[in-house]
Amino acid sequence: MESGTAESTQATEGTNGAGAPATDSLEVLNPATGGLIATLPVDSPEVVAATVARVRANQAEWEAIGIEGRYHWLGQLRDWLLDNQERVLDTMQLETGKVRADASTEPAYLVDLINFYGTRASKFLGEESIRPHSPLLASKKLRVQYRPHPVVGIISPWNFPLILALGDAIPALQAGAAVVIKPSEFTPLGLAEVVEAWKREIGAPDVLDCVQGVGETGGALVDAVDFIQFTGSDRTGRKVMARAAETLTPVSLELGGKDPMIVLAGADLDRAANAAAWGGMMNSGQICMSVERIYVEEPAYDEFVAKLTAAVGKLSQGADDARNPKDVGAMTSPNQIAIVEDHVDDALAAGAKALTGGKRVEGPGDYFEPTVLVDVDHSMKVMREETFGPVVGVMKARDSEEALRFANDSRYGLSGSVFGAKERAESVARRVECGAVNVNDVLVNYLASDVPMGGWKESGIGYRHGAPGIRKYCRTESVVITRFGAKREPAWYPYTKARRGLVGRVARAFNARDLKRRFGLRA
Ligand code: NAD
Repeated sequence: MESGTAESTQATEGTNGAGAPATDSLEVLNPATGGLIATLPVDSPEVVAATVARVRANQAEWEAIGIEGRYHWLGQLRDWLLDNQERVLDTMQLETGKVRADASTEPAYLVDLINFYGTRASKFLGEESIRPHSPLLASKKLRVQYRPHPVVGIISPWNFPLILALGDAIPALQAGAAVVIKPSEFTPLGLAEVVEAWKREIGAPDVLDCVQGVGETGGALVDAVDFIQFTGSDRTGRKVMARAAETLTPVSLELGGKDPMIVLAGADLDRAANAAAWGGMMNSGQICMSVERIYVEEPAYDEFVAKLTAAVGKLSQGADDARNPKDVGAMTSPNQIAIVEDHVDDALAAGAKALTGGKRVEGPGDYFEPTVLVDVDHSMKVMREETFGPVVGVMKARDSEEALRFANDSRYGLSGSVFGAKERAESVARRVECGAVNVNDVLVNYLASDVPMGGWKESGIGYRHGAPGIRKYCRTESVVITRFGAKREPAWYPYTKARRGLVGRVARAFNARDLKRRFGLRA
């Protein structure tokens, strides 16, 4: 999509507080300053359909070059990302307000993922040979092959503009699909730069593109593609699924979270507190898997809270540069800081205490202070709804059973973590109701691309990573091959007297597990 790429953006000076895009153009703001970085034309539904049609026309050839051929091109993308990451990070930092350390996780994850799927796709997607379960099928060869959905549409959010767009495009492309991405309207620039490089600098086959816009563009993409990978809020996820139902388009939804952390008595409290500080504040808490709620067994509570408050209280915040690195950046979406403020104010009004932080930072840019709340309970928004900001609420639990009850008392079930002595922590972790749980660590499951992760409950449908993370972009085709056969199978026409009831008699003979039934008698 020429109109949606960074090359076609108009860099514009000055500030403009309006976050809402005009109908025919997007204004991309710098959350660290509020300044306008660029305006982009919005892609109409017709442009979306034409883009999908164009990559669709190239998909068959892309599929035909095979797993190694596709890994060759994705390997070129890996090399380009390694060689150009500073340039991409500059763009992404501008549009997200992230600190550099947080931004740099994005290319790091992607280059690893390219190699992960590039070297394992044959194992995950290779043709399977299955032994027939029944002697009646002895003359058949059974094979299963994985054929890609021709065009995969990816709709992504603003919190990790590359990981949550390209991180899904990589397995889809490796599987042989063509891909069209609609990035968030808040953060379209870094992704557009990479897509442009795929097309022009790398010169890869024309099977990857992006379209720009808000919900209307996303809806048009749902209409045009064969599979939708959506990452975003559960509110939008429901709309996407309803729209996809109209064309019976399969979806995979990676939605919100309200991830719990359980700290058991006997845990290494320094490690637990440092993990909670990083897991709660990294990327300004704008991670679907951020630690948002913490339940601490009574004997460990006071010491843990003191250590956590000290760790969070020390964090530096602001726009960083190489000489002056900071820990916590801006809130990327202007809408989100209002939600964070609302949750914290709601908790404080109902009797919670902020041991550190607790308010929006005055001055330019959208910053919210890293915040530790205590005296919270499950009647408060901050313990029930996704806050998606640099805020954690800490509650005391009588014992591990109560901690588990609190942890599982949520409509979300994305991921979680348990800190404690090894065996006990592991047995508690196995009972947390979520798609991925970490023992004595946080967020790390996202790097373990070997194992699937996906949300339970209202956190989503489908999986990323592992075999399911690439197979979902494929349709399975079972091939049943006759190795030998007579001119006519016994079950075929004509239905003679002898053949009448033959199928039933044979099924009885093979499936009855006692002699009497095998011969048609009741046991
Ligand atoms: P969002 O739901 O507002 O938007 C996500 C994307 O959907 C954007 O590109 C948006 O333009 C598009 N969109 C909006 N309306 C649409 C419609 N009607 N049809 C099609 N597309 C539409 O989410 P957000 O605010 O960008 O991101 C934050 C949310 O994403 C949080 O809830 C967070 O938990 C979630 N998230 C989940 C994961 C995960 O892997 N589970 C990862 C990151 C973020």
